[in-house]
Amino acid sequence: MTRHVTDDVQWLTVCYPHEDAHEHVSVYLIEHDGSYILVDSGSFHHEQQLADAIDEATDGAGIDAIILSHSDYPHSGNISEFRDEWDDVELVASSGSPEIQGLTDARRCVIGEDLDVLGRTFNFIDPPLADRSHTTWIRDSESGVLFTADGFGNYHAPGECEQLSSEFDDAVPEETVYEFHRDNLVWLQYVDPDKLRTALDEIFDDYDVSAVAPIHGNPTLAEDVPTALDRLERAAGRIAEEYDVPTVEDA
Ligand SMILES: [Zn+2]
Ligand SMILES: [Zn+2]
Repeated sequence: MTRHVTDDVQWLTVCYPHEDAHEHVSVYLIEHDGSYILVDSGSFHHEQQLADAIDEATDGAGIDAIILSHSDYPHSGNISEFRDEWDDVELVASSGSPEIQGLTDARRCVIGEDLDVLGRTFNFIDPPLADRSHTTWIRDSESGVLFTADGFGNYHAPGECEQLSSEFDDAVPEETVYEFHRDNLVWLQYVDPDKLRTALDEIFDDYDVSAVAPIHGNPTLAEDVPTALDRLERAAGRIAEEYDVPTVEDA
């Protein structure tokens, strides 16, 4: 259940059944000078599975920091448990939501700014694909991996649980991207797909991205990013069309 996305970024892939398919709730582990940084903490259903995978990947050392993309439970479910399990785990988050145990002492990252975590620089990017404020996309400036929280998610077939985009016949299938965003990012019905694409292109123009690493999907490597962007734009277009919300121009 552990795949390298780059030399120092590993994907700890966990998923659960969703209708006839599966949905990921993964985390990513970054190695930096002998320290380990976890991006998101996963669902509490997968606590043991993730703790075992972290133990194995870090040779028993455990993690030194957690960076949270946002505080929804499938992302933040194991913060307290992991901070109990390993000593001095620093928490970095864009919000200090008091309702989430263990988040009140988080170091705040400011969306739109960079932050140093254990000597490594991370860019906290304001995402065009987010379902609430305080969500950030996190780019690891050293590896160039962009962690996109709920954005770029996709369902996958049993058997595709650990595949990178390069291991599909033709990258991550468009239909699974569409279905995931239709079900989970319902506000996309109000979004103009052209504007979404422009906002996405600006991010990819500003930053070199070696891989797109979603929490709820298979990672997309750099060579498949243009395909993934086209598919996401078309998926957003389909979602907007299906709901056919009246726009200001129609009024
Ligand atoms: Zn999510
Ligand atoms: Zn799976």
